[in-house]
Amino acid sequence: MGKKFKHIETELIHKGYDSKELLGSLTPPIFQTTTFTFETAEQGAARFAGEEEGHVYTRISNPTVQVLEQKLAALEKAEKGLAFASGMAAISAVLIALTKANDHIICSSGLYGCTFGLLSMMDEKYNIQTDYVAMTDAKNIEDKIRPETKVFYIETPINPTMEVIDLELVSSIAKKHNILVVVDNTFSTPYLQRPLELGADVVVHSATKYLGGHGDVIAGIAAGKKELMEQIAATTQKDIGGILSPFDAWLVIRGMKTLPLRMDKHSENALQIAEKLKQHPKVKHIFYPGDPDAGGYSIMKKQMKSGGGTLSFEIDGGKEEVQEFLNKLQFIKIAVSLGDTETLIQHPATMTHAVVPYEQRQKMGITDALIRLSVGIEAWQDIWEDLNQALDRFK
Ligand SMILES: *Cc1c(COP(=O)(O)O)cnc(C)c1O
Repeated sequence: MGKKFKHIETELIHKGYDSKELLGSLTPPIFQTTTFTFETAEQGAARFAGEEEGHVYTRISNPTVQVLEQKLAALEKAEKGLAFASGMAAISAVLIALTKANDHIICSSGLYGCTFGLLSMMDEKYNIQTDYVAMTDAKNIEDKIRPETKVFYIETPINPTMEVIDLELVSSIAKKHNILVVVDNTFSTPYLQRPLELGADVVVHSATKYLGGHGDVIAGIAAGKKELMEQIAATTQKDIGGILSPFDAWLVIRGMKTLPLRMDKHSENALQIAEKLKQHPKVKHIFYPGDPDAGGYSIMKKQMKSGGGTLSFEIDGGKEEVQEFLNKLQFIKIAVSLGDTETLIQHPATMTHAVVPYEQRQKMGITDALIRLSVGIEAWQDIWEDLNQALDRFK
């Protein structure tokens, strides 16, 4: 289990599991069990006291889930990984474990709609206030730091506006002020970007997206230093209990084996589509970190392997034109979520970010004309043909 490989492609496939330990089973078995029997009462006592390693109860640990946790930790260069029932279960467990009433959070200027909902709830219930800050330069951030600031919470690229944030810059400011940096790495995956290597303390994922990759499982991951992860495991993971089931862990493990192949193809396709969209007269703006004309391109080059598979664009018009355009698509699916093999398209203002109040949405750059496209791994020419015919035909 402990063997280290030089390349992420090999680690993904081999890390965290040794077939020799389990009857030669090539793929990790699904340990579909709630509990683990003790040989003696003394052994049970020793396991509970933490004096002996071993499983006790699946809400606390499970061998199949552990394979996934070890793989993810290796990929993110983390000391320890924890798996959760969803991305939101991971994010809420991390944020609730790392804060207490009256603390303060500084967040990137945009983020996933439900994370915004969680932060609003933490404010209402526990007076944990959040400032949303454009993290483009140090002064913007430092101006907002208070003595009670505990966490910087960052998405990069930001969902759905695709702005990128310089993680080295933000982490160095955090270090100076003893603030923890939590990064949602869902859009990039550790294959494209490793925030812990750039100074972050905790990485969270919706493994539902690119890690799982096949649109068949909801899952979440958190990874970071052993001490922080053990604190989360012993508090919000164990006692709130949003843990991942063994079968769902197995699906994520299976999906992740092809992560590098899929991410390369997603990124290549997205770049082609971005180029084509840019030239279409009905497209006003495109937002893709891999676009050489994008504002954040140099930061992307510095901290990401490529621009990833998701992009956004604005068409000429508003909500009605967007809906008409989406309805004219032939094989591209209208659906939220992203990172699947299928190309998915959605309208953030009325779908993923409808929970964000109108004013705040405008500040985040989510206009009614904005469309998010998760470019699949079909042939890009077919994806473009579908987009192009729908663009030509609306209005
Ligand atoms: C989907 C998503 C989440 C939430 O993940 P779930 O698995 O749906 O709970 C969090 N952050 C980002 C960036 C996402 O895209």
